[in-house]
Amino acid sequence: MRPRVSSIFSSYGKTWWRDATNNWARVQARCSGRNGIGCPDGHTAPRLKVQEGYQVGVCLSGGYLKATIRPSEQGEQREIRIQQYLQNWYRTRALEHLQEKANRYAQQIGVTPAGVSVRNFKSRWGSCDKKGQVVFNWNIIKAPHAIADYVVVHELCHLIHPNHSKDFWQLVGRHDPAYAEHRQWLKERGEGLL
Ligand SMILES: [Zn+2]
Repeated sequence: MRPRVSSIFSSYGKTWWRDATNNWARVQARCSGRNGIGCPDGHTAPRLKVQEGYQVGVCLSGGYLKATIRPSEQGEQREIRIQQYLQNWYRTRALEHLQEKANRYAQQIGVTPAGVSVRNFKSRWGSCDKKGQVVFNWNIIKAPHAIADYVVVHELCHLIHPNHSKDFWQLVGRHDPAYAEHRQWLKERGEGLL
């Protein structure tokens, strides 16, 4: 059983994954050399391989996302389970990668976030509270690195300017000179990642 991830989910009306995957592949093709994670060759979205077993979950191996599903789970239950495993996999990868990016940029900007975590926001890419807790929408890692970097820089700059003032954007621009372009990218294509 080696269907494209998209073909599995579109048949159940779950278009989020198909859209994200298509969008992702398109973006990666244009931004080669700046691969998002989970997209090993930078040009095609990984294919899904489904196998039965008891060590359930998803792993990336040899350019494939391999999902291991209990033999007892069949039909629609299986599809739902695969979707769950993929989400968990992405969330975990997202946290690792966003923490790494946040550490790097925090040092560069000269801030120390109280904590970095991920969440499944419906319509935003990140948040930053008064206590310095920075939260990212994990879906951002489906975008090219430059876009995810912008989101990280944006939230970290809020630790200095908790607003969208001129000073804030100036600071963002110092750490991401192409921020306007990245912001525009998110406005136009961000929804495809959710
Ligand atoms: Zn903001």
